Amino acid sequence: MIELFRAHIIDVPGDPLRGTAGLRAIEDGALAIDAGRIIDLGNYTELTARFPQAMQHDWSGATLLPGMIDIHVHFPQLPVIGSMGLPLLSWLSERTLPAEAALDNEAAARDAARRFLRSLAANGTTGALVFGSHIAAAQEAFFQEAADSGLRICSGLALGDRELPAPLLRSADQCYRESRELIKRWHNKRGVRYALTPRFSVSCSEAVLEVCGALMREQRDLLFQSHINENQDEIALVRRQFPWADDYFATYERYGLTGRCSVYAHNLHPAPDECERMAAAQVAVAHCPSSNAFLGSGSFPMQQHLKCGMRFAVASDVGGGTGFSLFKEGLAAYEMQRQRDDGVALDPAALLYLVTGAPAAILGMGDHVGSLDPGMLADFVIVAPASDGTLAAVLDAVTTPEQRLGALFTLAREECIAATYVGGREIYRRSG
Ligand SMILES: [Zn+2]
Repeated sequence: MIELFRAHIIDVPGDPLRGTAGLRAIEDGALAIDAGRIIDLGNYTELTARFPQAMQHDWSGATLLPGMIDIHVHFPQLPVIGSMGLPLLSWLSERTLPAEAALDNEAAARDAARRFLRSLAANGTTGALVFGSHIAAAQEAFFQEAADSGLRICSGLALGDRELPAPLLRSADQCYRESRELIKRWHNKRGVRYALTPRFSVSCSEAVLEVCGALMREQRDLLFQSHINENQDEIALVRRQFPWADDYFATYERYGLTGRCSVYAHNLHPAPDECERMAAAQVAVAHCPSSNAFLGSGSFPMQQHLKCGMRFAVASDVGGGTGFSLFKEGLAAYEMQRQRDDGVALDPAALLYLVTGAPAAILGMGDHVGSLDPGMLADFVIVAPASDGTLAAVLDAVTTPEQRLGALFTLAREECIAATYVGGREIYRRSG
């Protein structure tokens, strides 16, 4: 059955950062979907005439955007959002890793997974690359809940054999066996994809990185995620731990942890040659501006990444990040670039691309999701703020789609998401 969703429609079919396209906007438009896919979009009156039998969903006045995709967010860290006053390494040891160790029983893990997944959907996020738990049973519970959530989730067991609290430590051999079992159970099963997830070189001996390389060779289509160049103390520690390595990336490079479906979070302080090698290795970067500011880690050299030809997208990094809203992260990215002498001038089209088309392409899903082109899977979000709030007042005054989108990135947050759809199926509806 064909369904028609009436709303102001905005998406970005190309890459505005590299000049291939800008905003596509249809005031009082409609999106036609059938069997979970987009079959048409256009003016509401015209589409109603074309599909007179369609079931109508009247979101007139609201804005319909492609579903947002978060390529760096930590499943066990929701409870530590807002842990103020600490830089990265003490934030990890004093607040975050103890909280991660609390997922040592199934009920706690399942409850955490449900809340986490619901928070993604409630913020208009339809897909995510999720940093998992170090505890295999907790990660199993997460995968089960992810499969039931309807979201497009890629995730994996976090790995490390040092610089972690005892309940999270696993030997290299355990890392191998537990990862392999979860890959067998979940990779490309029930809508879930597996991402190999060494926490960062700080917590991984060479034996663990070696195991990761072996798993990547055994299963060529795995995704990969880790952290890099987030904080100067962290970088100095890696230099001491790996005296043979010229830089941080070299610690991953040696073990073959590269390729088109590899995502490294942060990369705030890369050496020029390091950035070039990362781009040549085709890895992508998750830029997490609110986390970088919150932890005082530094600011993102976006211009350097563009010059290197590196792919990147904007992500939340909950719980270093300040919440799940990718609107908020887009605003933070915009503000961070405004502060830099070499800052990239981001416009609303670029921000929307960095949370839709860019992350979709990085996760190898760019042919299916990320824009509202006919033929794409029907992943989209309805943004409808309360009529008596600030955002509604601003939207009443806008005269262009760019202004509408600029207002959404600046003011729209979780409470403005009215409904979230994945593959044409409503997976979240705001109550009230
Ligand atoms: Zn992270």
